[in-house]
Order: sequence, then structure tokens, then C-alpha cells
Amino acid sequence: MTKKDDDNPLEEIQKQLRDFMNNKNVQVAFAPFMESMKANSEGAKEEKDIDKPTPPPEDISRDERLDTIRSFDRRPKEIRDYLDRFVIKQEQAKRVLSVAVCDHYNHVRRCLDDEKLSKSEYVKPNVLLLGPTGVGKTFLMRNVAKLIGVPFIKADATKFSETGYVGYDVEDIVRDLVKSADGDVELAEFGIVYVDEIDKIASESSRNGKDVSGRGVQINLLKLMEETEVNLHAPQDMMGQMKAFMDMQKGNKPKKSTVSTRNILFIVSGAFDQLGENVRKRLDLNRIGFGSTEENDLSNESANRFLSKAETRDFIDYGFEPEFIGRLPVRVACEELSKEDLAEILSSSEGNVLEQYRNDFSGYNIKVKILEDAIDQIAEQAALEKTGARGLVTVLERTFRDFKFELPSTAIRAFSVNANTVTNPAAELEELLNDNRDQLDESLLEDVERYATQFKKEHGYDLKFRKTAMVAIVKESISQNRSVRAICERKFSDFVHGLSIINQRTGKKEFMIDKKVVDDPDKELSQWVIESFGKQPES
Ligand code: ADP
Repeated sequence: MTKKDDDNPLEEIQKQLRDFMNNKNVQVAFAPFMESMKANSEGAKEEKDIDKPTPPPEDISRDERLDTIRSFDRRPKEIRDYLDRFVIKQEQAKRVLSVAVCDHYNHVRRCLDDEKLSKSEYVKPNVLLLGPTGVGKTFLMRNVAKLIGVPFIKADATKFSETGYVGYDVEDIVRDLVKSADGDVELAEFGIVYVDEIDKIASESSRNGKDVSGRGVQINLLKLMEETEVNLHAPQDMMGQMKAFMDMQKGNKPKKSTVSTRNILFIVSGAFDQLGENVRKRLDLNRIGFGSTEENDLSNESANRFLSKAETRDFIDYGFEPEFIGRLPVRVACEELSKEDLAEILSSSEGNVLEQYRNDFSGYNIKVKILEDAIDQIAEQAALEKTGARGLVTVLERTFRDFKFELPSTAIRAFSVNANTVTNPAAELEELLNDNRDQLDESLLEDVERYATQFKKEHGYDLKFRKTAMVAIVKESISQNRSVRAICERKFSDFVHGLSIINQRTGKKEFMIDKKVVDDPDKELSQWVIESFGKQPES
């Protein structure tokens, strides 16, 4: 960049304008200039909005929601850009999903306007998402559904049974989708269904030609993925059936009792542990056929990398019905997350789990400063868990559990987290507590006042704490590692009875609590009771 480029161009324009206006012979019409400046700045704002695609607001009416879906006009890049804000890595999956989602909802929109198109042959871009656990497969789809404003439901394929009389029927997913759309069938019919652990219904025995329930579940799922009408109430759902019947008896307009799966987009996913290895073997065999060299030696590559090279026959060999796999034309593999990716999630993915921890602490007015070496250490330990980004939650929970318990009852209102905090949270917490043991905090003094308010509400007596008394209680609470409330309840356990005796004799309802009372509450209370003998009730 040259020096000239670095200069502020606005300054130069301002200078020229000043010179220009100082020339008395020139008349300047500002309006058009200002208009164009305004238009430019609005243009810039618009451009910024395009940069940051946002989902429809949550409080819009269902009709507006339906309108947004029916007039779907997102572009694949827009969806990818939105996903980039939350999901780290998974570039290929983001691209493929963005295209599939746009194709699907564009098709839905066009079919609503064009009956001929709606009757033509259409291969729904249902998606097969492969990849290890915790790398963002569900997270991607949840965010897509949020952006386009459609209902979303996730189900676990291992829970399905073929008949539905024991366990979960595949059709129950569609009914659950309706529930997630607050019972709105029309909205649910545009939703996204996500079925996880699909690899678990491709069983060994199906590969040997025996009929197993996995095969039955695949066939049932297949029907859903194509187009079918699902009854809103399952045959065994007696309550649902009765409600529908009673609605009819009451003369209510019969509601739609089936859900069409025509426009529902299906995403199925799984880790496919063994599949990568199988594909590697197949490719290795081919390689040997063509003469192996060190360059194309595949044995050292991670098996997961081969998931993206899986072909239809690999899935069939794995135990899937050809028709089933044929209904999943869009296939994409998510990558494993490295330690660096995990660190990036913590530092740049919007709303990541670390922000949740920050929010938890700020609920007690405690600020947490996370230093860079802490991020690295959290990521390193999380990577060892081998559960993708889920490992981050495990490590953060381990790190912060005791901090969350202890700090809200102390004067500490800010603390820093470094690598040592992550490797040895107990020692770091102890040091932090020791360093701040003598600090007093206003909020703990407020706890004493809160106790007094509660006492008055429950028993009718006003305990007026002097500042010195409150400080003494708070100090005791810190040194004994017990809450202010617990200390007060123990100290003043006999006061309800004692004060009621005094009240009967004197009518007194207000009692001054100074440090002397806190130091020896029973002695002071006895003294008050004795003094109240022979006193006349205050009028
Ligand atoms: P799975 O791949 O098993 O479906 P999830 O999508 O449910 O995993 O991931 C669990 C959680 O981990 C998500 O809710 C999200 O908070 C976080 N996460 C996973 N992968 C990523 C990623 N690539 N980028 C950001 N966060 C992620």
C-alpha cells in the first residue's frame, strides 16, 4: 500500500470542499450531494445486512412464518455464510448442505405456484451426513433450520422398532415434528427431520441375507423419505384418538388428521466407524491392481478421511438396502476436529459453550477473563476425550465446577483463567480464595439484609442490623465457608421464641442487632428477656 492510499480520502475531499466554498463565485447545491451520501450509507448498511444473514424473528406469527417459507429466496452462499458464524470447519458439508437446502425449498416454492411441476418426477435432496461424533453434524442442521425458519426434529435410529408396538415407530418422528411446530401440521410439513445413528440399523446379519429389524426400519424410513401421509395420532395413542373423536362430536371443524411428508427434508447421519476402513481396503486393492508406489500408500491415512470416498456399493456392502441408500442422493462427510479447531470454536464460534459459562458467572456479577493459554489447554484436553466439540463441555465442567460453587458466596467479582486453572482447578481456586479471604463484599452484606427481610415476613419482628454486626456475620461466613443465611439461621435460631416472649410483655417488635449480639446471641437474648420482666407493654 502506498503512502497516498493510507491517507484518509475523506480529509482530502473535505479540504477540496473548503477551498471550493471559499471561492465566492461558486454556488453550491448541497441537497443532491447529501442525498447521494445518504444513499451510499444506506447501501453500505444493506450490504452489511446481506453479509450477516439472520433468521426470521422468533415472535412472528405462523402466517408470516409460512409466507417466509413459501417465498423462500435464500442463496447457497448466504446459508454457508450464516453457518460460518457458528460452525468451525466442515467447509464441504456447509457447501453441500446449503445447495441441498436451497434446491429443496426452491422446488417447494415453485411447486406451490405450478401444479404441473408439482406432479413431475422429483428426487428430493435428502442428505446422508457422515462423520464422527461431536463434529457439528446436528449443529449444522439445527442452524440451517433456524435460518430458514422451519421446524426441526432429531431422532435416534436405534430407538426405532419395525412395528411400533414395542419402542418407537419411524412415523413417530413425523408426529414429533408436528409437536415441535406447536401442533401446526401445515408448518411441520415444511420441516426438517434429522435421524442420527443411521449406521446402527445396517446390521451384520442383513449383510448375510437374514431379515433383521434394521432392514424393516430402513424400508419404513424409505417410505417417509419419499412421500406418504402419516396419521397425526398413532394407532396406540388412545388419548389422541379420543381427543380427535371428541372434537368431532363437539361439532368442531375436523382438523387435518394426516401429515404429508412430501416437502419434509430428511437428513440421516452416522459415524460409520467401519466404513472408512472398508473404503480404504477397497481403494488399496485397486491400488495394488494398478501397481503400488510409496506415493499412493494409503495405510497411514486416518480411516475417517475415506468416508468422503464412499460409494453406493460401499453402503450396500455395509448393510444398507439399495433402495434406501438410493433415496439419499446427497452424501457428505464431516471432518474430525483437531485441537486447533477446538480452540477456534472457543474463540470464534458465536454462542459457543464458553460463552455459556461466562453467562453463568455473570448471573452472580462475576467477570471471567479467559487467557489464551487457557484456551489452548482446554482444547488440548478436550481433544484427548475423542468426542469432538463435546469434549469441550467435559473439560469446562471439570475446570469450573468448584469455582461455580464457591465464588458466588465470596467477594470475588472477577477472576482470570490460565492454563494452570485448567490443569489444576482445585489448587488455583484455593489460591484465589486465599488471596481474597479478607475482602468484604457489598452483596454479602445484602445477604444479611435479605435474611432480616425474610425474618420479618415470617415472624413479624424487625431485626435492625448495625453495619458492624453485618460485617461480623459476613466474616464468619467466609471463614467457615458457609452461606450467610446458614450462619444467621444458626445464630438466631432461638430468637423467634425469645422475641415473642418480649413482645408479649412489652409489645416491642423492633430489635437492634449490634456486634455484641452477633458475638454471643444467646447471652444477649437472655439479657433482653430478663430486662423485659415487669415492663409494661408499649402503647
Ligand atoms: P454431532 O456431529 O455428533 O451431531 P453436534 O452437532 O451435536 O455433534 O455437536 C455437539 C455440540 O458441539 C454442538 O451443539 C456445538 O455446540 C458443538 N460443535 C460441534 N461441532 C462444532 C463445530 N464444527 N463448530 C462449532 N461448534 C461445534
